[in-house]
Amino acid sequence: VSGRPLPTLGSTEPWFGGPVNAWATCVLAPNPSAWTLDGTNTWVLSDGDAVIVIDPGPDDPAHLNAITEAIGDRRHIATLLTHGHGDHSAAAPAFHTMTGVAVRALDPAHRYGDEGIVDGDVITFGDRELRVVHTPGHSADSLCFAVDDVVLTGDTVLGRGTTAIIWPEGRLDAYLESLRIIAEECADTQQLLPGHGPVLNEPQRAIAGYVEHRAERLAEVRAAIDAGHRTIASLVDAVYAQVPAAVRPGAELSLRAQLVYLREVEGLDVPD
Ligand SMILES: [Zn+2]
Repeated sequence: VSGRPLPTLGSTEPWFGGPVNAWATCVLAPNPSAWTLDGTNTWVLSDGDAVIVIDPGPDDPAHLNAITEAIGDRRHIATLLTHGHGDHSAAAPAFHTMTGVAVRALDPAHRYGDEGIVDGDVITFGDRELRVVHTPGHSADSLCFAVDDVVLTGDTVLGRGTTAIIWPEGRLDAYLESLRIIAEECADTQQLLPGHGPVLNEPQRAIAGYVEHRAERLAEVRAAIDAGHRTIASLVDAVYAQVPAAVRPGAELSLRAQLVYLREVEGLDVPD
C-alpha cells in the first residue's frame, strides 16, 4: 500500500520488471492498483542452475506460467514468501502444486510442504547465500532477504511512495526497529528489490526518507489530536487528506497503528 509519494525517492517511471542484476529478475504480476503500485514483484533469483522464487503473487495462471518460463529448465529449489498478504501469497498453494517445490514462510499458515523459515536462516543457491531477516511492522510476519549487497524488502520498503502499517498486526514501533535493522545490518547494501515498484539504487537514502516520513506523520497525528480531532474518521481526514480514496482503508490502519504507538510508546492520551 502506498501513501503520500516521496518525490525524491525511487523512480517515477513506470516499472515493467525484468532483469535487474546478474542474478535477479522480476516477473511483474498483472495486478496493478493503488495498493500494489505497478503490480506485485515476483523475484526469480538464480545462480548456476539453482533458482529461488520469492512471492508467487496473486493466484493468476498466466502469471504462474510466466514464472515457470523464467525458471526455464533450471533447478527450482525453493519458493519464499516475504509475508502472507494475498497479493504476495495467494498463488502459493497453486504454485506449490504446480512445481512440487516447498513454499517457505515465517507464518505457518502460509507454508506448503515445509517447516518454514525464521530470522537468521541461510539458504544457499549456487554459489550465493540468501539470509533471512525478520522485519515486522508492515505485518507481523514480514521478512527481508539479503543476498550479496542487495536486500529484497517485500512491502517493508516499496519502490516508490511509502508503505502502510497494517494495524493491528502491524506495529509502528516494530516497523521503525526494522528500518533500523535494514539500515545498520545491511550497511553495505547497494540495491533494494521491493515487493512493488522499481528497484531502489540508493538504499540508505530511501530508508532515511522512510524514517523521516514516519516522524512527519507522527507529528501530523499529534498536531491533529491537539487541534481537537478525536475520532478515527476525522483524524484520517486531517492527516491523510492527500491519499486517494482507494487507499483510505490503508491510511486508516496506519493511523490506528500510530495511535497505538503514541499511547504505548509515548504515553499520550489518544482516541481509541
Ligand atoms: Zn504487497
